[in-house]
Amino acid sequence: MKFELTDDQKAVQEWARNFSETIVAPVVSKLSDRDKLPMDLLKKLSAEGFMSLMVPEAQGGAGLDSLSFSLVITELARICASTSISVAVTNMIADVLVREGQKHHHDKFLSQLLSGESPTASFCLTENSSGSDASALQMTAKKEGDQYCLNGEKIYVTNGAFSNFFLIMARTNTEINGSKGVSAFLVPRASKGVVIGKEEDKMGLNASSTTRMVFENVLVPESDRLLNEGEGMQVALRALDGGRISVASQALGVAKRSLEAGIEYAKVREQFGKTLGEFQAIQWKIANASTELSAAELLIRRAAWLKSQKLPHRLEASMAKLFSTEMAIRLCDEMIQIHGGYGYIKDYPVEKYYRDVRVTSLYEGTSEIQRTVIAKNILGGL
Ligand SMILES: Cc1cc2nc3c(=O)[nH]c(=O)nc-3n(C[C@H](O)[C@H](O)[C@H](O)COP(=O)(O)OP(=O)(O)OC[C@H]3O[C@@H](n4cnc5c(N)ncnc54)[C@H](O)[C@@H]3O)c2cc1C
Repeated sequence: MKFELTDDQKAVQEWARNFSETIVAPVVSKLSDRDKLPMDLLKKLSAEGFMSLMVPEAQGGAGLDSLSFSLVITELARICASTSISVAVTNMIADVLVREGQKHHHDKFLSQLLSGESPTASFCLTENSSGSDASALQMTAKKEGDQYCLNGEKIYVTNGAFSNFFLIMARTNTEINGSKGVSAFLVPRASKGVVIGKEEDKMGLNASSTTRMVFENVLVPESDRLLNEGEGMQVALRALDGGRISVASQALGVAKRSLEAGIEYAKVREQFGKTLGEFQAIQWKIANASTELSAAELLIRRAAWLKSQKLPHRLEASMAKLFSTEMAIRLCDEMIQIHGGYGYIKDYPVEKYYRDVRVTSLYEGTSEIQRTVIAKNILGGL
């Protein structure tokens, strides 16, 4: 067993760190809490290959393994959590297209991510009355000849304002309540009846776009359905297995940066004639945070490695997400504590890290849902 990254993985990590620090940081540092990621930055990320990282080279992508992908998301999140989630969700859709799509899906949709025509893509599962209980979704896709008519609403659509197309889970069989009645569709933004709703006003992750979407009699050709009717939740759940590794990697990146800020501060701030770092109470916070951060990194690497090997990884992805996101929230909170009152003031970055990281234990399956997935894997279906 090797704990070292390969030379290729180290090079990818270095490339992502360099891009994050030299291209992303100068742009996002000027954004206010109201600003979204500029289209220009998303296009640069796309041109540099960040939106198709795991697409095989033969299909025009970077051909990265899952661990390299996770390293990229962590590096981006270290500088900007909003950028990292935009990139992560887009890659999740690219991954779905490669895994579940046919040639005509690649020509029509994947090509848009490769060329930058669509700077991002979006995943539309959640609805007003179906969040954790995703397979209870109500949006309908009614078959009419060789097309479907989509009606309903989606909420919390990441990249909603940026994407040219959307992966949408809708109910093709209204006689069946659960997941078996759900199918997956690819829908262009330009389709008649697609309405991008309001941007959510969030606690953090403010540069990321999170919108509502309304679909009114949107006609989708049968050929833009992925897999068979009734297999939409499988498409969504397989996507989320990978997505959970991304969110864990995102949380890790924010936590790393927050810890760096805490260490820097503990070395210079003096009280009672000593630096904070000389007090055992502060040393233990740094020691605990560093240890937990390493544990999270190992869980993420195991899940990513399993995914790269095309081995089952649902359990490990849930464990990595559960531990890494809760660890990152704790860590970001402790780094505010190290800063004392200054940690609560916007002149210092640690309050933003906390606000940005808080969502990671909520989206792509809450911590409670991760625990349910883990327990089911261990105890059986119950
Ligand atoms: C910023 C942001 C971006 C998002 N992006 C996307 C996106 O791009 N696409 C998308 O489809 N969705 C997206 N989401 C939605 C996100 O995945 C959901 O918010 C999440 O799955 C939880 O659903 P909910 O908010 O409806 O909470 P609920 O399901 O109502 O849960 C409320 C609380 O009850 C708990 N709970 C629910 N059921 C159980 C149970 N069986 N056992 C124990 N506890 C339970 C939950 O864990 C939670 O603590 C996003 C959300 C946010 C905030």
